[in-house]
Amino acid sequence: MIDFQTAIAHYWQSHPAFAAEARAAGHRPEEGQLPVRGIMFDMDGVLFDSMPYHSKSWARVCNEYGLHITEEEVYLNEGRTGFSTINWLTERQWGRATTQEEVEHIYSLKCAAFNAFPEAPKMPGAEDLLRLVKAAGRMICVVTGSGQASLLNRLTSNYPGFFCEERIVSSRDVKHGKPNPEPYLMGLQKMGLRPWEAVIVENAPLGVRAGVAAGVFTIAANTGPLADAVLADEGAAIVAPSMQALAENWQEMCRHF
Ligand code: MG
Repeated sequence: MIDFQTAIAHYWQSHPAFAAEARAAGHRPEEGQLPVRGIMFDMDGVLFDSMPYHSKSWARVCNEYGLHITEEEVYLNEGRTGFSTINWLTERQWGRATTQEEVEHIYSLKCAAFNAFPEAPKMPGAEDLLRLVKAAGRMICVVTGSGQASLLNRLTSNYPGFFCEERIVSSRDVKHGKPNPEPYLMGLQKMGLRPWEAVIVENAPLGVRAGVAAGVFTIAANTGPLADAVLADEGAAIVAPSMQALAENWQEMCRHF
């Protein structure tokens, strides 16, 4: 069983101004309540089991281009925009910023490599959780660093009835990708919520960092090969082993919402 009580108490202790706001709005933070009205889901590694293909395609394309990156490094840097990832690599290896031309070239090769893999399956447990969130009347928002059209287009077809265009934040919408909090702040804005009225579900260390920086209670679903500690060290309120585990703990979560 996931210990939400301790995690929520810790959240309010670290955000006294939000606790005061919540209290003024008639909620009871001191009793361990987190008045969640909306949930923001990351996409890759949360809604789609796409990270194995992303890590392989990034590693192959970049290494062929002469930019070295391991598959584990792709996982550690997940959440960055394509531009940010490529820029990080050229800075690290060649000591210079990337160029627009280079980004377009490498990112198009990466997208082609990704699309050559079979269709990434839906993440086990994700639809169960979405169904529970929707049935409980909570808003649903997708906040992704991805600009991968093949996956973004599948959100509405693979998960019919859960997402609407107005509540999807992708790399096209933001200036700064994760780990900057901007994508999650934009998600809050799209839902019209304060940080303490939302929860984030993330799988990536930099995504967790972005969520925490946005002041939101951030749950990590560790669906990849990284150690739980990597996600906890970024400030995840909870580290769950899978999306299925979150779905199974939804009723327990709701006791605090
Ligand atoms: Mg992700």
